[in-house]
Amino acid sequence: MLDKSGNDSSSYNMDDIKFIKEKSPVVGQFIEDEYERQKNNVELIASENYCSDAVLAACGCCLTWKYAEGYPYDRKSGNTGRYYGGTENVDKLEEYCCNKWREVFNTDYHVNVQPHSGSQANLAAYRALINHGDTILAMSLNNGGHLSHGSSVNFSGKLYNVVFYDVDENGYIDMEDVRKKAKSYRPNLILAGASAYSRIIDFEAFAKIAKEVGAYFMVDMAHIAGLIAAGAHPSPFGLADIVTTTTHKTLRGPRGGLIFGKPEFAHKIDSAVFPYAQGGPLEHIIAAKAISAEEDCTEEYRKYIMQVVLNSKAFCDEFLKLGYKVVTGGTDNHLFLLDLSDFPFSGNDLQIRLDQEGITVNKNAVPGDKRPPSEASGIRLGTAAMTTRGYDEDDFRAVAGRIDKVIKEMTAEYEENE
Ligand SMILES: *Cc1c(COP(=O)(O)O)cnc(C)c1O
Repeated sequence: MLDKSGNDSSSYNMDDIKFIKEKSPVVGQFIEDEYERQKNNVELIASENYCSDAVLAACGCCLTWKYAEGYPYDRKSGNTGRYYGGTENVDKLEEYCCNKWREVFNTDYHVNVQPHSGSQANLAAYRALINHGDTILAMSLNNGGHLSHGSSVNFSGKLYNVVFYDVDENGYIDMEDVRKKAKSYRPNLILAGASAYSRIIDFEAFAKIAKEVGAYFMVDMAHIAGLIAAGAHPSPFGLADIVTTTTHKTLRGPRGGLIFGKPEFAHKIDSAVFPYAQGGPLEHIIAAKAISAEEDCTEEYRKYIMQVVLNSKAFCDEFLKLGYKVVTGGTDNHLFLLDLSDFPFSGNDLQIRLDQEGITVNKNAVPGDKRPPSEASGIRLGTAAMTTRGYDEDDFRAVAGRIDKVIKEMTAEYEENE
């Protein structure tokens, strides 16, 4: 595991890289360069994290050799539902993985652990509940939603008719707008969840509106799943028909996705993942998902998430103290958006400059952004990754000071050039 100064307490990565370099000097060098970059940078991308060595090892294990299309269970016969022989070990693994994830979220929902990513989990989740051409009410990309929530360049915007709800003038989800649009557009599915939203999402209010208009209710908890697991954000279980997530963000697992659903949707979810959206599952990633689920059930993980939230508040408060604008004026979770609308340079300009300073962030649109998405007027800052490396509140306040210094330098340069 990497510490805050970039020292790795285990030799796992270096041993691996040394082995790869012997077989492929070219690829090995790419990996080593990236490992060095990750060790030396302050990682503030809100969707990234560092998983454990055990999770990494499982991602590179012999299970990648195995084909196992289908499921460990067949609802009709009670036997294996795989289309291949030799699946007795991966069958047990996949069932164990499903049970562990139910334990993480303390739920009796059906779970499918096969989605290769969050986007593919969403592709299957929509299909399980509604038909192509049906209407989805979701949060738009420029308000903090995700590409797979109906963006016109994504499958979701091409296969479905998508209507977007807005945030209010303070950047909060406007529940009145959700209700109004639900009533006038009569969506088949209402979707809650976001990639760049720093406040508690009121799942109960969403569920109530969905019920009022007879729509399915789906939650994509990709970003906040870890907070939900640890009790730092209200849970959508019991309220949503389907819940999707990624496993590589706050959950600190391998890159991948999960779908949970009320038991009555179990069969529809499974057939929407395979054969609709995917072929063979990645059993090595499923092993890694099972290990991270075990880790996420521990007291140590719960404490980690509490520190992620404390760090996010301290980091955000420091920017407010320094006089910056933050979307919604603060944060309840692991991230927030610094609003640069009043500055002469864009989020993209700042992202590039911070890269040179060894601080990794991503540009992000702010509500009502006047700049195009490729420029954007904000940057998104998250605390999940550096908290894994041991950062506390003081460390994050110090990083805020470094970013403030860079912004002041850039502002001075722009003024000189005018
Ligand atoms: C990250 C994210 C996803 C998709 O994740 P990928 O694994 O990159 O496809 C989906 N929904 C939300 C809300 C996300 O933040």
